[in-house]
Amino acid sequence: MGAKLTERLLVKAGSKVRLSDWDPEADYGWQREEAEAETVRNLERMSELQEKLWAGRERALLVVLQATDTAGKDSTIRRVMGHLNPQGCEVTGFKVPTEEEREHDFLWRVHKAVPGKGEIGIFNRSHYEDVLVVRVHNLVPEEVWRKRYDQIREFEQLLHQTGTSIRKFFLHIGRDEQKQRLQDRLDDPTKHWKFRIGDLKERALWDEYHKAYEDAMEHTSREKAPWYVIPANRKWFRDLAVSEILVDALEEMELKFPEPEDLSGIVIE
Ligand code: ADP
Repeated sequence: MGAKLTERLLVKAGSKVRLSDWDPEADYGWQREEAEAETVRNLERMSELQEKLWAGRERALLVVLQATDTAGKDSTIRRVMGHLNPQGCEVTGFKVPTEEEREHDFLWRVHKAVPGKGEIGIFNRSHYEDVLVVRVHNLVPEEVWRKRYDQIREFEQLLHQTGTSIRKFFLHIGRDEQKQRLQDRLDDPTKHWKFRIGDLKERALWDEYHKAYEDAMEHTSREKAPWYVIPANRKWFRDLAVSEILVDALEEMELKFPEPEDLSGIVIE
């Protein structure tokens, strides 16, 4: 298995990103059973570390989840983040901006949703939509979205400098896998609610989206706000990879319980 997934799946700062070089089927030598056992261990470790994060109230963790449609943002949130204590953890979904949001700069709604000290914030979609869907559908002129790479880097640097660690994930599935997942939704009446005809239009823009993701990751993967490309055709591998990277992010904070008051000599009557 060699190096840790946290190193292998990292988009190194300043590197060129070609998604065709990243196999969505990859498992880096892991077998399903051992991967699932390791994921359980990671989730236990994550909850221990979350308790320290919450107790210490000095640091925060921001998790950004972006994905090709059907790649599994929702199930990653359920399966990996579902083990966290809901107190101290918040999921924010970013939809088409409201009128009020459109009257402000694109980071306005995002900044309001970042986690406070002691918290873990999970973004289901994020400010990256403003250089992804917005770019692919020409919702603003290029000169506007192009400046956003710098603006995003500076915003994330501010968060980092004020105690928030950031980890950004692109869940990567193959085109055939997406076809299969869409077909499964179509064939199963209990999944019809998930099927949006609009997804087919987005699917037709596959290459445009990949190009936009490549550029976004290339411009904004930084040592302190790294992107990871998560091979997501195999759900068990996706969960293993995301959980490992999050454990490493929390470990890196060297969290400690706060010093208690002097409890010597205290007797509870
Ligand atoms: P999801 O697909 O994440 O489960 P929805 O079905 O509600 O949730 O989709 C949210 C939609 O909002 C997506 O089509 C996404 O592209 C769009 N969206 C999010 N942010 C923006 C933005 N800044 N500008 C335009 N569209 C956006």
